[in-house]
Amino acid sequence: PDPSIELKDHIRGIPDFPKPGILFYDISTLLRHGPAWRTAMARMADIIRPHRPQVLAGIESRGFLVAAPLALELGLGFVMLRKPRKLPGLTIGLSYALEYGTDRIEMQADAVQPGQRVILLDDLLATGGTMAAGISLLRQAGAVVPCAAALIELTFLGGRGRLDVPFEALIQYD
Ligand code: 5GP
Repeated sequence: PDPSIELKDHIRGIPDFPKPGILFYDISTLLRHGPAWRTAMARMADIIRPHRPQVLAGIESRGFLVAAPLALELGLGFVMLRKPRKLPGLTIGLSYALEYGTDRIEMQADAVQPGQRVILLDDLLATGGTMAAGISLLRQAGAVVPCAAALIELTFLGGRGRLDVPFEALIQYD
């Protein structure tokens, strides 16, 4: 972890992706840079540790990139929230509304123990719809969700207002 590293220097905004008019924040350049990525994970670990997680969960697919190394760093297990029909065995799922249409996430029904403290992670919080659905699904599985976190928060979309847990982010764009 290098205190002189400015994480925003390692994230680029790509205009008109995936659709015209959308500015997409690309974390590939952060992932590609060893010291910056290590610093990002160390700072995330410091932010979520006080919430005393017992398990970390990540949302497919960039959420996996955040949650899995953090789980390793904190010595915790990692649980996947995936797109439909990807997980074997008994699953539970939740459909949620998008701007146009709906999406669905699923997890294995036995992935968490009742009452376990599970922190949910993703790469970026936009409208908050994905994170809110993930929190609901984890609770359906019996988890207690003490907080949610992402590398990036698009504050102008007000996503954190849709969450009923504290939300933490390393980087904000407004
Ligand atoms: P929300 O449900 O909060 O509106 O959207 C968040 C989800 O969409 C996250 O899973 C995130 O990966 C993806 N997403 C939306 N916009 C961006 C973006 O600009 N950059 C990245 N990396 N992901 C985005």
